[in-house]
Amino acid sequence: MAVLGATGTVGQRFIQLLERHPWFEVAEVMASDQSAGKPYAEAVGPRWKLPTNIPDAVARLKVKGPGDALRSPILFSALDASVAGELEERHARAGHLVSSNARNHRMDPLVPLVIPEINRDHLALLDRQKHANGGGLVTNPNCSVIVIAMALAPLHSAFGVEAAVATTFQATSGAGYPGVPSLDILGNVVPFIAGEEQKIEAEALKILGRLGGKGIEPAPIAVSALCHRVPVVDGHLVAISVRLRRRASAKQILEAWRSFRPLARLDLPSAPADPIEARMEDDRPQPRLDADRAGGMGVTVGRLRKCAVLDWKFEALGHNTIRGAAGAAILNAELLARAGRV
Ligand code: NAP
Repeated sequence: MAVLGATGTVGQRFIQLLERHPWFEVAEVMASDQSAGKPYAEAVGPRWKLPTNIPDAVARLKVKGPGDALRSPILFSALDASVAGELEERHARAGHLVSSNARNHRMDPLVPLVIPEINRDHLALLDRQKHANGGGLVTNPNCSVIVIAMALAPLHSAFGVEAAVATTFQATSGAGYPGVPSLDILGNVVPFIAGEEQKIEAEALKILGRLGGKGIEPAPIAVSALCHRVPVVDGHLVAISVRLRRRASAKQILEAWRSFRPLARLDLPSAPADPIEARMEDDRPQPRLDADRAGGMGVTVGRLRKCAVLDWKFEALGHNTIRGAAGAAILNAELLARAGRV
């Protein structure tokens, strides 16, 4: 497979997560013209920010440019949104299956926006895309939406979620590299992330929506998002309040989260055994302590309590570059492979 945008924050995660993957191997890497033609290790240089080394086989790969043809059947895209739309479409038309992190195609009516535990039936939209030779486009949600949708999905199917208010505390790695200037974020909170609140409000409804004859019918939930960038390296924490259609006790809500194991029988390498862990301590989840749970693929919830405005409130946390980006796209590709689509 190929990683597009391989030199960036999410691209590096793909390289790291795929190093020992039992099904997929990185055969090609692609980035901008400034990186093209160089061996991967040289192109990334000091921008490699992960605590593991660049795998030897990838370090030597010559980086391809945006105009180069690719031969891999699956392309993982971590491209900057300024170029992802057109490049991903071109490669899908050329017969590649593109599993993308970028926002460009997420809300296209024919493009599945998938979290395997929640809406894998939406992958059927691939059959309605007009790409030749098995090509297609599948996307994973924004890094905050994954955390919110995972926490809401079991509650929505058990009790019906009518309204949700989600206040995010988002890590700096979510802005890529170099991202937010240190003088803006150190010892500070920035109460604005361009486009983020709108993305959360729209994408959550598509994911929790139903696939019908005319496409995805968005879930009838009122969602309001309030987004903040905080001086945390990895892990988005979200404070969520919900109003439920049917009455639920704390015990029933905890049970809905804890019994949520929709992928248990599929045996996908990146799927965590417990996608949601519900903790009972007063001070969890925390990014530093919980973001890496289940190899960064687990979502952790906690602090469930009554809400005086809506019904219930709680915290949810997930690793933004793993569960919220590279790991999500890999899990989508595993699902497609398991379904015999690649
Ligand atoms: P980043 O660190 O800025 O990396 C961007 C990548 O895109 C680099 O590999 C860069 O290559 C490449 N690129 C830029 N212009 C290009 C061009 N004209 N042609 C080909 N490649 C080009 O960004 P990131 O944080 O990894 O995010 C990547 C994508 O994932 C974005 O669409 C972002 O919205 C999405 N996303 C990010 C997160 C997160 O937590 N960071 C989570 C979910 C989704 P060069 O190094 O050669 O410039």
